[in-house]
Amino acid sequence: MSDSSAIRAGSRLARARRVVVKVGSALLVERATGHLNRAWLETLAADVAALRERGQEVVLVSSGAIALGRRELGLASGRLRLEESQAAAAVGQIRLAHAWKEVLEQHRFTVAQVLVTFGDTEERRRYLNARNTLETLLRLGAIPVINENDTVATAEIRYGDNDRLAARVAQMASADCLVLLSDVDGLYTADPTMDPAATFIPEVTRVTPEIEVMAGGSASDVGSGGMATKVMAGKIALAAGCSMCIALGREAHPLQRIDTGARCTWFVAQSSPRTVRKQWIAGLLKPAGTLHVDAGAATALRGGKSLLPAGVTHVDGRFDRGDAVVVRGPEGVDVARGLSAYSSDDARRVCGRRSQEIEAILGYRGRDEMIHRDDLVLL
Ligand code: GLU
Repeated sequence: MSDSSAIRAGSRLARARRVVVKVGSALLVERATGHLNRAWLETLAADVAALRERGQEVVLVSSGAIALGRRELGLASGRLRLEESQAAAAVGQIRLAHAWKEVLEQHRFTVAQVLVTFGDTEERRRYLNARNTLETLLRLGAIPVINENDTVATAEIRYGDNDRLAARVAQMASADCLVLLSDVDGLYTADPTMDPAATFIPEVTRVTPEIEVMAGGSASDVGSGGMATKVMAGKIALAAGCSMCIALGREAHPLQRIDTGARCTWFVAQSSPRTVRKQWIAGLLKPAGTLHVDAGAATALRGGKSLLPAGVTHVDGRFDRGDAVVVRGPEGVDVARGLSAYSSDDARRVCGRRSQEIEAILGYRGRDEMIHRDDLVLL
């Protein structure tokens, strides 16, 4: 790649609005000593601060709990049994979260620890909860640091690797860029440590079966992911409209290096997270109910506004929070489809009322909007 095209590719990171950065165990924890690689972590924190300064939102997905905890517990090297990994994670996660807090506090950021299990990203209700929490943390200016809750995750229901977890987080947060900081600088046609003829692949726009074959199995034994899980992460990210970069993280200032054109593999999304989400909403087969709205609300929706409870005249059907519903105007014309922020029972109680009254009526403070415009597609 010529210098100028390398810098152009690097600036994909600079153009992103919301960036998820996944940091692997092999980078955070020194293999020989099992100690945290603090000096390096400080350079990454400085890069995160630089992203925030230029207006980008950052979510971190950090591995390292098990690697840090096993030293502390004196567990021998080699493969851990599941219960040993769980114990190591319980001990290591405290240290990991504390390290992030310390390095990011130097830049005056508030750090939020979020531990997720497989079900939090795969079950709709919990997915919506986790999504809302992330959204709220970001709105309040905090930097979420996410890891799998390894202490309670059991073999059958765990990610086990943070590459795919990071991709699910990126999808959940509608991030437009995912960076996997790794101990390799990108994707090759074969494993470069085994095959001298392996060539580097700078860009992927679609994860084809050939690419999956190239990724093969895992090489590094400090973390759990290998190239295979990174390519799976790429598949998830691309389907969510999020571009992804696999980059070498070992050097100081790993994000700055991507910005200035260091070699890395970009999985380039052909769509945006917003478009993907709207297409998904438009394509949801069976709306579970109907929100009937007055003329004012219908006009507001067509003008790009959210649907407020005040504009809803009555509610048909039975649905849960997060289910798809149809929005029907006063002449019986379907105006939009969207995801309701309230269940049908609650929607019936707050329809026709002002958003400020919601808390008094329902006993909890839900969203101001019945359907937020991000969750709405005009028909
Ligand atoms: N969640 C694991 C940990 O924090 C790491 C998983 C991975 O290496 O991808 O130790």
